Amino acid sequence: MKQFLREYLTDRSDEENFIFSVTCTECGSVWKSTPIRFSKARAKPLTEAKHIIAQALYEREHARAFEDAVNEAVHHFNLCPLCKRLVCNHCFLICDDLDMCRTCAGYLQEEGEAVLEEVAVY
Ligand SMILES: [Zn+2]
Ligand SMILES: [Zn+2]
Repeated sequence: MKQFLREYLTDRSDEENFIFSVTCTECGSVWKSTPIRFSKARAKPLTEAKHIIAQALYEREHARAFEDAVNEAVHHFNLCPLCKRLVCNHCFLICDDLDMCRTCAGYLQEEGEAVLEEVAVY
């Protein structure tokens, strides 16, 4: 599932914030990860050496933010076992035998309840 999400994640990061998005293939709604600020966002590197360091830092933090976004997206998206599409919680139904997306459920005339949005626990 996480490997699948990695391929679906769109990078929307800019120079100051790391942010990623996933689009539901069923309803088209766009989910965005919680933005993570680059630690050196405001600091303008004065020398070439500092610039190289900042760039390496950016790449490292970007990779970490990407993993965080994948771990976050897991709670908002589901992989339909039938059509192999990634759909949001509103488009994924918990059915008696096999959980599936709305389209597949309609096609197979299965009935189920949509996955409810998880209540964030802090
Ligand atoms: Zn959806
Ligand atoms: Zn499906």
